[in-house]
Amino acid sequence: MHEVLCRALPTISKHETFEQPAIGNYNLPMLGYIASGLGMAAVAAGYQSMAPTAQWYGRAFTGRPRGSRQLALTYDDGPNDPCTLRLLEVLAKHSVHATFFLIGRYVRQRPEIARQIAHCGHAIGNHTFSHPLLIFKSRAEIVSELIQCSATIESAVGEHSNLFRPPFGGRRPAVLRIARQQGFETIMWSVTGYDWNARSMEEIEEKVVNKVRGGDVILLHDGGHKQMGADRSRTVLATDRLIARYKAEGHEFVTIPEMMKSAISFQPSAVS
Ligand SMILES: [Zn+2]
Repeated sequence: MHEVLCRALPTISKHETFEQPAIGNYNLPMLGYIASGLGMAAVAAGYQSMAPTAQWYGRAFTGRPRGSRQLALTYDDGPNDPCTLRLLEVLAKHSVHATFFLIGRYVRQRPEIARQIAHCGHAIGNHTFSHPLLIFKSRAEIVSELIQCSATIESAVGEHSNLFRPPFGGRRPAVLRIARQQGFETIMWSVTGYDWNARSMEEIEEKVVNKVRGGDVILLHDGGHKQMGADRSRTVLATDRLIARYKAEGHEFVTIPEMMKSAISFQPSAVS
């Protein structure tokens, strides 16, 4: 059993392990791979299928118009022991709610961590059951990944959001269409901390700070898709600093459902 974690200050241990870089929101090896097989047209298609704010392939939420006071912290690839628990402590210390996109097979392994996330008031979304790159999967496989993940989260925490984030940010029109047909809203991001291969919390903080313009959905990771136990201590520390920094500047941290709700209610006056 874990202690409860919505209050106490964290003691963060440094781990020795470094994860292999995951495929990010888009990256050159992936584009190169696609380009070498399919030619230049595919470069554009590849970019669109991996770039977080690209909309050719269908609608996906990436935040509020620039200049909004709202910011949304989002964490992918959990639940993860112990980093998710340390992160919950940091978020609680600042009274901030975030959004967690959980991997179904990890929820099955550690349902009590998923329950703790929900108990602390954070939003929970679907990050598929086994974290495949969906652009290479069939319709049946995509549906199965979505449904299996949702069912696993449901059995751990009960009702949760209909939010979905594709693994690696990878998508094609069919992925978004299938997700929509299954009742999901696809959520991407406008800022990433590249925390999957960051060497320090300062590096993560800098990547985020360089990109934040207000109204952003910030991508970070409390876990790693390869295995449970990924070291995300730098992300936890960077979160502490980012929240302090942006709160001091007058920003408000909200969950994705809160941000989407206010985006709708403010739409008439929203200009880009
Ligand atoms: Zn992921």
